Amino acid sequence: MENTINGIHHITAIAGNAKRNYNFYTNVLGQRLVKKTVNFDDPETYHLYYGDKEGTPGSILTFFPWEGIQTGRRGARQATEIGYSVPKGSLDFWVNRFEKHNVIYNKVAEKFGEEYLTVLDPDGLKLELTASKTADNRLPWETDEVKAENAIKGFHNVTITTNKMQPTADILTGVFGYKLLEQNVNRYRFITDAVENANIVDLVEVAGEVAGHVAGGSVHHVAFRVANEEILMQYREKIAALGLHITDKIDRNYFYSLYFREPGGVLFEIATDNPGFAVDESVEELGQNLKLPAQHERFRSALEKSLPKLF
Ligand code: ZN
Repeated sequence: MENTINGIHHITAIAGNAKRNYNFYTNVLGQRLVKKTVNFDDPETYHLYYGDKEGTPGSILTFFPWEGIQTGRRGARQATEIGYSVPKGSLDFWVNRFEKHNVIYNKVAEKFGEEYLTVLDPDGLKLELTASKTADNRLPWETDEVKAENAIKGFHNVTITTNKMQPTADILTGVFGYKLLEQNVNRYRFITDAVENANIVDLVEVAGEVAGHVAGGSVHHVAFRVANEEILMQYREKIAALGLHITDKIDRNYFYSLYFREPGGVLFEIATDNPGFAVDESVEELGQNLKLPAQHERFRSALEKSLPKLF
């Protein structure tokens, strides 16, 4: 995993009520809040990061919770499903848990030979819990109610819905080092062997599908993972050489980022492993305190009053 794209780094989505979002991801799904910070571009709003113990890339789902935001609509030119990896044999546990917590879910189904459970978060964001057929040796975060034998290990895949799959496929295969693994009707599964997990992107091609609307309950962007800034900037050149607009390097405190819109319409980010979430608090304390980037530190007392309490 030297000069490669190492699967998914994080996925960022939009939520409504912050506490409801926090309760679902920590209490119901058993994820760890690994960072409580603000949207650097809109510091009146949280940016919440959920993942495993250390916030390992490949496990991180992040949200901008905007109270009262309208609900988005799934459709083309969007990442439409977020797939988590769960242990084999755990899907019954999750069905029972979703029943108990009045969560909307579908009965267990199968694709590409893997059983999965579709579930909607409180804002309607579509998640899938997949019992992967390949080994997933990642150590999950455990809670009192969600122990390791059932716990989410991180991402399994992400699904992008597109009118025409080829332009997006060309980025995945020609730039990111993915290859087509399997095709089932209009679903194309791409995988990279640079890493063992969080390494799958599914493209679903639906020619007539109307473009989705990104708002509450939808994915804002998908971030792919690189080891460091030097490799990040190598990818910047590769993307720019295709004639696509790509941002300059942006410091996100916990990683460095570039953003570009892939030809299928989805906002892609490339993000580094360094410096990671323990840069401003210890691993034990992750997520406990409001963390602000230097430029917003002077607003701390006002923000601590105005941001909604999570716990
Ligand atoms: Zn991001």
